[in-house]
Amino acid sequence: MKADHFEQQKLLALADEDVALTQLAHRKRTLPEVAAVEAAAESERTFAEAEVRAETEVRDLDREQRRLEADVDTVRQRADRDRSRIDSGAATPKEITSLQSELQSLARRQSDLEDQVLELMERRETADAALADAQTGRAAAVADRERAEQLRDDALADIADSTARHEAKRAEVAGGISAPLLALYDRIRTQTGTTGAAVLKARQCQGCRIELNGRELAAVRNADPHEVVRCENCGRILVRTAESGL
Ligand SMILES: [Zn+2]
Repeated sequence: MKADHFEQQKLLALADEDVALTQLAHRKRTLPEVAAVEAAAESERTFAEAEVRAETEVRDLDREQRRLEADVDTVRQRADRDRSRIDSGAATPKEITSLQSELQSLARRQSDLEDQVLELMERRETADAALADAQTGRAAAVADRERAEQLRDDALADIADSTARHEAKRAEVAGGISAPLLALYDRIRTQTGTTGAAVLKARQCQGCRIELNGRELAAVRNADPHEVVRCENCGRILVRTAESGL
């Protein structure tokens, strides 16, 4: 293919834009801010789960405590009734003996229930502390995530701005290149994943950084200035300049 020597120079400006656009796309894919958001969101989920567990524990303990307190009340009322019966003077000696025996067992039962209430209150304190920790942790994780999201959004906006700028510049440069040469460049760019042309500088292709051997150099040297020459190694269009070392 032949293309005007000066038009071939424009491919370098196009390649510069493509390098910038490739770097921007890579930066967008590997943004540390995205990983920071994910880490904060993961921490938030962990604390939220701990919070749900602690809330459930607190509710369960409350229910158990109410049940125990109701049992204590029942025992106390029964004991009050027994004592009133004894104090009434209407009970027979046999009945009194039986009531006193029941009072003893009620007292043991009440003491046992009160121990259980105390133990429950200790567990409730632990559960309350766990709940408070989970709530504090989650609030901090939410704040972390929101901060990280802001940083990520700022970085993405920055990348979007730069991308738009380089795309506009690329379109402008591409507008000055003839369709066949541009099509060849774009086809090579798709293959390399970055650029379709590179400058030949000091006998080295700046696309793949391989130095041309004697035969390749001779071929490039002898080629018409308007001939489109390509790097045999990477396939890019080799743009010749005064610094090519030919
Ligand atoms: Zn090359």
